[in-house]
Amino acid sequence: MTNQEFRKVIIRVRDAAVTLVKERIAALAKWDAQERARAAWYFGRADEEIRSALATGLPRLLSAVQELVPEKIIRWDATLNKNLTCAVVPDSGQNRAGVCKPDSQNRVIAIYSAFCTDSNGELWHSAKVKTLIHECTHYTDTFNSDDIMYGNTESGM
Ligand SMILES: [Zn+2]
Repeated sequence: MTNQEFRKVIIRVRDAAVTLVKERIAALAKWDAQERARAAWYFGRADEEIRSALATGLPRLLSAVQELVPEKIIRWDATLNKNLTCAVVPDSGQNRAGVCKPDSQNRVIAIYSAFCTDSNGELWHSAKVKTLIHECTHYTDTFNSDDIMYGNTESGM
C-alpha cells in the first residue's frame, strides 16, 4: 500500500468509526432492551453504573476518534521509540495496533503489518474500524480499557 492509499483508507475508516460511536451514543440515550442486552454482552451487566460509565466515556471516545488523522497512525518499525512516547510490543504478525494509554496529547496509534491485511472493503464491519475504535478506548481519558476487558483485538480476535 502506498502512503497516499493508506491516508485515504485511514480517513474512510475514521469516518466510519465516528458514525459507529455516534450510533452508540444515540442508543445509550434510549437504553432500550436491545442496548441493555448489548451492554450485558460486552460488560457482563447492564446496570446504572455501566450506563453512567458509558455516558461519560462515549463522548470522550468520540472526540478521540474524531481527532484521528493519518499523520497519527504510524507504521510500527524499529525506530518506534523515536516516534512514540512509550514502548509498545513488537510486531508479532498477529497484533494489529498499540497506543500509549496516558498520551492523550498526541494520541498516536502504532499499527502493525497485520492491520494492513485486515478487511476494509465492507467498512462498517471491517476489522480496521474495530481496531481503531478499540485502540481509542485504551486512552486513560476515554475508557482506560485493558485488553482483558475488551477482548484481545491486537492478537487477532
Ligand atoms: Zn487493545
